[in-house]
Amino acid sequence: MNKLDLPYSHVLVLGLAKSGTAAAKALLADGKKVRVNDRSAKDNDAIVKELNALGAEVIIGSHPVDILDGVELIVKNPGIPYDNPILAKAQEQGIAIITEIEIAGMLAEGDIVGITGSNGKTTTTTLVNEMLINSKVPVQVAGNIGVVATDVARDLTKDETLVLELSSFQLLGVKSFKPKIAVLLNIFEAHLDYHKTLENYRQAKCNIFNNQTEDDYLVYNADDVFITQAVQKAVSIHVPFSVSKKLENGAWADEQYVYFKNEKVIARAAIVLVGQHNLENILAAIAAAKISGATNEGIQQVLTTFTGVKHRLQFIDKINDRVFYNDSKATNILATQKALASFHQSTILLAGGLDRGNEFTDLLPFLSQVKAMIVFGQTAQKLEELAGTAGIEVVKVQDVDAAVVKGYAMSAANDVILLSPACASWDQYRTFEERGDMFIQAVHKLK
Ligand code: ADP
Repeated sequence: MNKLDLPYSHVLVLGLAKSGTAAAKALLADGKKVRVNDRSAKDNDAIVKELNALGAEVIIGSHPVDILDGVELIVKNPGIPYDNPILAKAQEQGIAIITEIEIAGMLAEGDIVGITGSNGKTTTTTLVNEMLINSKVPVQVAGNIGVVATDVARDLTKDETLVLELSSFQLLGVKSFKPKIAVLLNIFEAHLDYHKTLENYRQAKCNIFNNQTEDDYLVYNADDVFITQAVQKAVSIHVPFSVSKKLENGAWADEQYVYFKNEKVIARAAIVLVGQHNLENILAAIAAAKISGATNEGIQQVLTTFTGVKHRLQFIDKINDRVFYNDSKATNILATQKALASFHQSTILLAGGLDRGNEFTDLLPFLSQVKAMIVFGQTAQKLEELAGTAGIEVVKVQDVDAAVVKGYAMSAANDVILLSPACASWDQYRTFEERGDMFIQAVHKLK
């Protein structure tokens, strides 16, 4: 395992989710005294037994008052807010608090590409990883996208690049973490229940570049007014991207081509991924990948074949000249707006799901090419009314399966049949993934 450069010997790991477990194991392997605390873990959980066997002091079921005794550092689960009583007390006592990502940053010997933003993280992270793989640059991927960063960072060698998807929750706890290449995609109002104010949320996102030095790189969205201002204080090398203007020092696009600086990287017509928002993700990914050593051929191989991350405006199939897209991840109106704005062809929209009490009128300006709506779930009636207002034909069905059959029956050649529900799935499906899988299966059944 790589060395951990940490000037503390007694650490409390708060929260035993995947990231806490990975941090505890790395700390134990480095010879630290580790106390682990989790309220909901049980004595006979495999992980509790394993950590005990590795020498950790595991306290479960409660947060005793003396939990902080002797502790010099806390590694907290990103989901635990700072006003949690233990953390509040720790802050009074001057105990340092970090998240697992900080441990990963200390362990990783190779360069880190850290990717954050309100939207587009998974897509961009996937693109950068694929571009490096196709360019034969040694690479690993981790973070929010699946594998815990620390588990990968432990054995990352000097010549390997680690591509990390980072949430604002992870970034909030950053003390000294710095990626070699930081990517800041966009900042929308999100997660205000946790961060309380937009300002706090923005600050958390800016932690991705705050510790960078002159020989690091900052890839950022030059079309975002707040981001453009915020990055002024970054001392790293600025690599902007823009879908609207030419950039001598970054990634940009005109109607025909995508460029990195003054070089043509790929013709836009050759790119499979649809959507203006995905063009932003592509530009960010190209910038980060080029800095990390990707070749234009490697980038082209990805962009001419990559159909999208599963459930995110993912191309599924073309059947009798109808094209099917699965955007089950669109659990709110904004995401469905993005999906609808991605197509100019006549579209049949499949939508509906959990009723959160909101109206759907904000979809109206995006329905101009929608020729029919197939609606289901708790919000079916609201969406039916919306279609009525827009003068669009609408059919109510039981579920996604029936929606695919009905949508196909009503379609003509060259139509897009799009699942972009604008609602969470929990009224009918356990997860948006399950809903998307239903859609994919139903499309395959049409053959
Ligand atoms: P994240 O990992 O940040 O949640 P994803 O790549 O999984 O992002 O995309 C989730 C959804 O966010 C997409 O289905 C799309 O609706 C929207 N989205 C993706 N990229 C962008 C972007 N660059 N700008 C705005 N919205 C985006």
